[in-house]
Amino acid sequence: MEISFHDEIKSLQLGAGATFHGEGILAVTKALLQAGVSYVGGYQGAPVSHLLDVMVQAREYLDQLGVHVEACTNEAAAAAMLAASINYPARGAVTWKSIVGTNVASDALSNLASAGVLGGALIVVGEDYGEGASVIQERTHAVALKSSMCLLDPRPSLDNIVRMVERGFELSEASNTPTIIELRVRACHLRGSFLAADNVAPRVSTRRPLEGPPQFAYDRLSHPPATFRQEKMKAEVRLPAARRFIAEHQLNEAFDGDQSSVGIIVQGGLYTNLLRALQFVGLADGLGASRIPILALNVVYPLVPEEIGAFCAGKRAVLVVEEGQPEFIEQDIATILRRADLPTRLAGKDCLQLAGEYTTEVIVRGVGKFLAAQAPYLDLAPGSAWIAGVEAIRDRAQRLLGGPLPARPPNFCVGCPERPVFAALRLVEREVGKAHLSGDIGCHSFATFEPFSMGNSILGYGMSLAAAAGVAPMMASRTISVMGDGGFWHNGFLSGVSSSLLNRGDSILLIMKNGYASATGTQDLISTPPEAARRAAAGGSAVHTDQTIERTLRGAGVRWLRTTYTYRVGAMMQTLREAFTTPAAGLKVIIAEGECQLERQRRLRPRRAEQLARGERVVRERFGVDADLCTGDHSCIRLSGCPSLTVQAADDPLKVDPVAHVNNDCVGCGLCGEVAHAAVLCPSFFRAEIVHNPTRWDRAKQRVRSTIIGWLQPA
Ligand code: SF4
Ligand code: SF4
Repeated sequence: MEISFHDEIKSLQLGAGATFHGEGILAVTKALLQAGVSYVGGYQGAPVSHLLDVMVQAREYLDQLGVHVEACTNEAAAAAMLAASINYPARGAVTWKSIVGTNVASDALSNLASAGVLGGALIVVGEDYGEGASVIQERTHAVALKSSMCLLDPRPSLDNIVRMVERGFELSEASNTPTIIELRVRACHLRGSFLAADNVAPRVSTRRPLEGPPQFAYDRLSHPPATFRQEKMKAEVRLPAARRFIAEHQLNEAFDGDQSSVGIIVQGGLYTNLLRALQFVGLADGLGASRIPILALNVVYPLVPEEIGAFCAGKRAVLVVEEGQPEFIEQDIATILRRADLPTRLAGKDCLQLAGEYTTEVIVRGVGKFLAAQAPYLDLAPGSAWIAGVEAIRDRAQRLLGGPLPARPPNFCVGCPERPVFAALRLVEREVGKAHLSGDIGCHSFATFEPFSMGNSILGYGMSLAAAAGVAPMMASRTISVMGDGGFWHNGFLSGVSSSLLNRGDSILLIMKNGYASATGTQDLISTPPEAARRAAAGGSAVHTDQTIERTLRGAGVRWLRTTYTYRVGAMMQTLREAFTTPAAGLKVIIAEGECQLERQRRLRPRRAEQLARGERVVRERFGVDADLCTGDHSCIRLSGCPSLTVQAADDPLKVDPVAHVNNDCVGCGLCGEVAHAAVLCPSFFRAEIVHNPTRWDRAKQRVRSTIIGWLQPA
């Protein structure tokens, strides 16, 4: 990884009395150290990647504290690390993106939750839900419920987030229950400050190892008959202990308001959205004081019936603001109210939308509906006026655009090594016909968007080949499964390759070997080329510098294996053609090799800037389009989709359509030239070398060339 977290690592070392400034997820990282965490593991994924990325780069400092850090190959491996807290008084934290990561981890989590923990076990999940989400929309809440784990959803303020991390460990220890802390996208990227405390050297650590031999305790194995007792323990001992701790330490927060006949119970993570909405309705001020009493649930599971009862008692109605579905909290509260025989009317999903993110606008509408029914004496006109204003802006934008805003799907980076592979596949399809393409998680999934629109299913990270197993025997032509090297190591080798070999599958697997887990933030893999090799590959990509994937596949028994450099479109087409048509039986694996351009540019650009600052000669390649030759047919764009390859108005009055144009972001990957050649397009593309700080020889060559071109051009 070419990014340096130097400043973040300094923030982690702040001592008592210093003020920490930064993002929510970095505050969590600091809080782990203040809580005396012994070990940290995880699998990166937005919005919590930063936690592990920073910890991995901070290893030298963490070694001094005795904290062990492990970059796990998937979430299951990370969850399994928490086994250390089952028998030993060691605090552990693991992290990943949820819900997908929680799904992968759920086997280990179930076993962990059954056995229970001695040392605090905290699972920091990025709750990737709502408008900015990149995964399937489900709730982590369901997993906490089914395994009886505590679930924290902190009100987004850095002070409170840090408090909840520290209390989360204590809650876990007081109830012997693993505790999940879910952080929404906004909580992770929230910026703020808090008063730091000293980091605490863990009780058990790499510097203070456990004394004596490991103890055998059958009761702590999630194995029958112990599991039967463990289930009873959850219901009869652990959850009651958790409820006691939550109440005694006031983990949930009640905020008073003068309109005491109604109230709102909100997931802690949505508290700021709710306050903003109340502000627009005219029922809260800019400093966060609400006229409607609010119960902010920093712990959304388990609920404490006495707390809910105390908040609801004497109120005509309460509204539950709970994002996503099903409405677990609302149902829980309904049961609590019924059992306590409280007459308070309960509103929730009848006022607010069932699914989707609770933005401020959604909450303004829902709160307005609730209050209009339950507190009609309140002046709700400001809320209605605000909604009318939002709708007017939206209508005006539609009128100006002549329709809804165009979608802006994500795309491969400029010069991405994966784009040429799909261009080649598109060209080969013209010969062999369209094949079922089993997609995967990773940058290559951008091929599902225009201009490629390729991919028939996505079933999870590293699952493409496994997902093709059911389809392949029913298809007239071979299926092709695409996965990245990140997906290969996450799950793809075991779930896909080994299963295909065992069952003598006859499909194609295309592995994008770009060197990193790029889609999650370009973290290193075991097949990432060593740093020295990357530095040595000055201008070009790190080609064939690591053969771990190839050796693994050969060792497992793959016989048909080809490695092809992605930017050579003709060669890639030939490899694909062969894979589709060869009579050879068995799994056919194509390794598409080309370093992630994002990471490559992160390495090259600072180096180039240093050279320029020293006045050295620097040559940068880029492509261009000769506007005189371009006919405006745009075949090149349909085979590329590179954001640098765009259009501009033609100077020629006889050309009606705009001509293709390569803007200055082009990194000179060469795809434009390769595609023009492979697809036999027009000859309008040219490759240019931009020479900075030219030598005398460069200037002389330039003069000669200009003179000759001048002679050849008509006057
Ligand atoms: S991050 Fe790397 S692999 Fe992903 S789209 Fe960008 S260049 Fe391609
Ligand atoms: S050569 Fe073409 S595909 Fe490559 S970066 Fe430049 S414009 Fe994009």
